[in-house]
Amino acid sequence: MNLASIQAAESKLLLHTYERNPYLFVGGKGVFLEDENGTQFLDLLSGIGVSGLGYGHPAIEEAIAQQSKRLLHTSNLFYHEGTANLALRLTEISGMDRVFFCNSGAEAWEAALKLARANATQARESGKRLGTKFLALEHSFHGRTMGAVATTHKDKYRLPFAPVMPDVEFVRFNDVADLRSKFSEDVCGICLEPIQGEGGIHSVSQEFFAAARELCDSTGALLLADEIQSGLGRTGKWFAYQHYGIQPDVTTLAKPLAGGLPMGTMMCNEKAASAISPGMHGTTFGGGPLVCAVAIAVIDTMREQNLLAHIEEVGSFFKSQLEGLKAQHDCITEVRGLGLMLGVELNSAELAKQVAAQVMERHIIINRTSETVLRFLPPYILEKEHVVTAIDALNETLKANKELAGATPAGEQVHG
Ligand SMILES: *Cc1c(COP(=O)(O)O)cnc(C)c1O
Repeated sequence: MNLASIQAAESKLLLHTYERNPYLFVGGKGVFLEDENGTQFLDLLSGIGVSGLGYGHPAIEEAIAQQSKRLLHTSNLFYHEGTANLALRLTEISGMDRVFFCNSGAEAWEAALKLARANATQARESGKRLGTKFLALEHSFHGRTMGAVATTHKDKYRLPFAPVMPDVEFVRFNDVADLRSKFSEDVCGICLEPIQGEGGIHSVSQEFFAAARELCDSTGALLLADEIQSGLGRTGKWFAYQHYGIQPDVTTLAKPLAGGLPMGTMMCNEKAASAISPGMHGTTFGGGPLVCAVAIAVIDTMREQNLLAHIEEVGSFFKSQLEGLKAQHDCITEVRGLGLMLGVELNSAELAKQVAAQVMERHIIINRTSETVLRFLPPYILEKEHVVTAIDALNETLKANKELAGATPAGEQVHG
């Protein structure tokens, strides 16, 4: 089947949830994807932050090959070797005490929300006052299940499915006064992404994160940090909260964890974990032998190859190159992000749309999020030479769109 026939078939057969870009990929190696004509695309998105080790990585191929010959599934009714080995690594790198395995980001976040409610229930049973309300941030994104969309800010993701989980209030991004005024003993959890991904690559401030920690400590509510996109090295540290020196009670991780296979985890401290007893929560597939083996290979490879330092180095280079572009193009209003989680804010949504499409026509994959933001989530193995190629293409594309670049600013401005 070629692209046109697949497009025609999908348009009749699939639920219309995606506006796909018109490319058909059949393979990949390193930081490049290959389309059906054999054209190589430099991938600066890695499947929305998933393929951290790029494509065709030998450690991942080996882990899949070996484990596929041994055992794929046991259910959580029995033991296998992978879960404890992976949990040991995850607790080491996160500073958390316990791990729950599941299959996706939304599912990990759902577990985090349930844990916060269970923690509050346990507190009430021991005579404390702790309510059921969540505080979440404006422009947040936590996934598509009913609990996750309830804590997700964008109306389009939430309102058509009402009523979603009740008892969520949104706090203005980085507005400490708003956080303090909405916080009380009614709150069982504060939800935040240390760096908002889908919301346009915005970092919470040190002050805001610290206030959230202090407020949760004052009542026993849980601080939930969603690191589904920012976690496992993306920002140059294992977890973005480590840049702040603030330890949340609960964190979630998913996208890059199993090298392209679906896997999520919710990790927490001992205090939060005590709210869960056998039978209260679970999953059929979560933490299966295959995904555990691959996730172990991903973490071990990252450690052996010192990829955190590499991400930090190439990420700083990438960011400084983007700053250089900003100096040349007035249409770039801001460059944001850490490590290899970067965003470029343009002054027009139409321009951002055109630029993303035209850069892809030059065989470089980038993404637009939050209307006006070009988002970069490249594989961790990106090299400076790839950055130079990308910057050249962006520069040419921005030049070619000079007229659009002068257009009136986008209607929807995020974060004022
Ligand atoms: C992608 C993402 C999710 C949802 O993950 P899925 O695997 O798509 O369910 C949740 N939170 C954040 C921050 C994400 O980036």
